[in-house]
Amino acid sequence: MSTIAVGNMTLPFYSANTVIVGAGAAAMNCALQLLKFRLQAGEKRPQDRLIVVTGGVKLGASRMSGSDKQTYYKMGTSPRISDTAEDFAKTLTAFGCCHGDNALIEGICSLRGFYNLVDVGVPFPHEPYGAFIGYKTDHDPYERATSAGPKTSKFMSECLQAQAKRLGLRVIDRQMVAKFITSGEGSGKRIVAMLCVDRSQTQKPNMGMSVFAARNWVLAAGGPGEIYRTTVYPRGQYGIHGAALEAGLEACNLTESQYGLASTKFRWNVSGTYMQVIPRIFSTNARGGDEREFLTEYFDDMPTMALNIFLKGYQWPFDAQRITNAQSSLVDMAVHQETVVRGRKVWMDFLRNPVGKVGWEEFNLQRLPNEALEYLQKTGAMQPLPIDRLAHMNKPAIEIYAENRIDLYKEPLEIAVCAQHHNGGFSVDKWWRSSISNTFVIGEMAGTHGVKRPGGSALNAGQVGALRAAEYISNMLFDEIPASPADLGDSVAKSVEQLQKLCAANSTAGTPKQALAEIADRMTRFGAHIRWRSGAEEALSQAKRQYFDINSAGLRVSSPRELPTAILAAQQCLTQVAMLKSIVGMLDRGAGSRGSHCILEESGAEMHPALIDPTDKKPYRFKPENVDLRNTILCTRFNPAAADLFELSDVSPRPIPNRQIAFEPAWTEFREKAIFRD
Ligand SMILES: Cc1cc2nc3c(=O)[nH]c(=O)nc-3n(C[C@H](O)[C@H](O)[C@H](O)COP(=O)(O)OP(=O)(O)OC[C@H]3O[C@@H](n4cnc5c(N)ncnc54)[C@H](O)[C@@H]3O)c2cc1C
Repeated sequence: MSTIAVGNMTLPFYSANTVIVGAGAAAMNCALQLLKFRLQAGEKRPQDRLIVVTGGVKLGASRMSGSDKQTYYKMGTSPRISDTAEDFAKTLTAFGCCHGDNALIEGICSLRGFYNLVDVGVPFPHEPYGAFIGYKTDHDPYERATSAGPKTSKFMSECLQAQAKRLGLRVIDRQMVAKFITSGEGSGKRIVAMLCVDRSQTQKPNMGMSVFAARNWVLAAGGPGEIYRTTVYPRGQYGIHGAALEAGLEACNLTESQYGLASTKFRWNVSGTYMQVIPRIFSTNARGGDEREFLTEYFDDMPTMALNIFLKGYQWPFDAQRITNAQSSLVDMAVHQETVVRGRKVWMDFLRNPVGKVGWEEFNLQRLPNEALEYLQKTGAMQPLPIDRLAHMNKPAIEIYAENRIDLYKEPLEIAVCAQHHNGGFSVDKWWRSSISNTFVIGEMAGTHGVKRPGGSALNAGQVGALRAAEYISNMLFDEIPASPADLGDSVAKSVEQLQKLCAANSTAGTPKQALAEIADRMTRFGAHIRWRSGAEEALSQAKRQYFDINSAGLRVSSPRELPTAILAAQQCLTQVAMLKSIVGMLDRGAGSRGSHCILEESGAEMHPALIDPTDKKPYRFKPENVDLRNTILCTRFNPAAADLFELSDVSPRPIPNRQIAFEPAWTEFREKAIFRD
């Protein structure tokens, strides 16, 4: 580490060939693979030329999030059921807006990624003959899903990190990304440095700022979870979308996110066995009184209601195509109605079976429709109460709540429809290269998922993208030398000045916390699972106004301690503009309800007579999917001169490659590194 002088401040200056931003499962695998590739290439100390920089090693979705048995989706490993990468790619691309080459690669490389995890110590279960046992998610015939328990992704990150540490990996923690510094324009544009702030050092004369210079960047900072108020992303998971957009990276599919039922006091998905044990789901008023069996308004009888609670287990994400005709996402809409529209609270009660209404038969396991009954019989989960069925099927699912001071044996669990995963992100090619040379995007930041994705495929995509980026950098880019403090002095000074301006606010500006709360409220109201044109347009214009206000007047900051929050607010503000602009752009293109969101429209189909839109007091009507748009990926690029700050463009999904090549020419291509050329 050296230093760089900026005015009368001295900032630590770190330099590396490659900087990986983030320390989740994707980042850690990329670091490990890059070190391994370089060691295999004969380099003695590759660890001296690689740094992992993160806002928090223990933060992020991989380390802090999960579900009843967090799913890892890979090609099938059953000894009896054959699977191919091409079939895998067809599943990933089935609902559109997904590049076929990325999907095929996610299939081809999935087992390499999976067995790497097994080798570093992630405890995926196998049977006595060595087969890694899978299960079906949503009727997938290949049993591609597996799990190492509720904390699969935590184990992944920790095991990968431990292995990388053995190879000497340097991790620099508590560095929140403030800005990327770029040089050049057009195809010559590159990120040359990154300005970060250490939250714990803001009282120092340099306000905790540091500079990182590198030739190659791997961005692996996860999804923009805290952009929503109602979210199951872990606390503090902001991501770096704002900084990356500002640097000029092209984003894609920003409209596509996944929402679903999750507990809110301790943020955790209530998928899988939590639902398959069929707990009672009820609501109360805000103070916890006036209990109601609200789901009975939406279903005709007990077996149908119970089946749909059960189905939420493996039909977890809210799905616009599973609402009408009493399907499982009607449960999410009913919860939405109860919480958002009626201002009540919704709870899962594992101590009681579902309760019906007058005239309904009582809950009876034997009277469940076959799909649920057969599953419960097969798993031996026929105990009288949901908590006993859960204890029988999945004790760790109870323990994870106990670890977080929620005793499912004693208390109900508050839930809501929460933002959970971003299927969109930044555009990448088949080596996970972004639209800016030498910058790669992996993990949840990469927009490789289309409209819908199978449960568990996010973790696989993160491992595969990490491997691909590492292989490319090791073979093609590891010789390049980063910029020095002398090269960067002026541009760093300019960035520091911009940050200082952000905080030099007059007393009429809002505080950073107020700005973040405003963004989160707006995104949950207008940019989440329920969207409509006038709402999205109004939200976009408010978001733009907020962006211009922050950029002209700054934010009211009373102490340097607030600098990191001010930076986050400015970044999240730009991200929300990008997301809302993309939503409006899709509506302009005639988009209907798809994936995990509904587009409300008067001429659309009625969802359910009891689901009342508070704006006009009539039943919600929603527009069906515009299937033609499965062939259009909407790309979003920052342009401060554009009317809405972003330019939109349409790209057709690249097809699933069908390349056939004999061994000898393939071998030559590989030896000559032709595989890395476009
Ligand atoms: C409740 C829940 C359940 C899930 N269940 C599943 C599942 O069963 N299967 C599945 O495949 N996927 C699941 N996912 C999604 C999956 O967990 C994530 O997509 C994945 O873990 C993301 O990994 P990542 O490495 O890309 O990013 P993360 O693990 O989110 O890591 C992000 C890293 O970037 C750092 N960072 C963030 N912001 C900044 C900043 N501003 N400055 C500097 N550093 C920053 C963080 O500190 C962290 O180190 C789930 C997600 C949630 C929330």
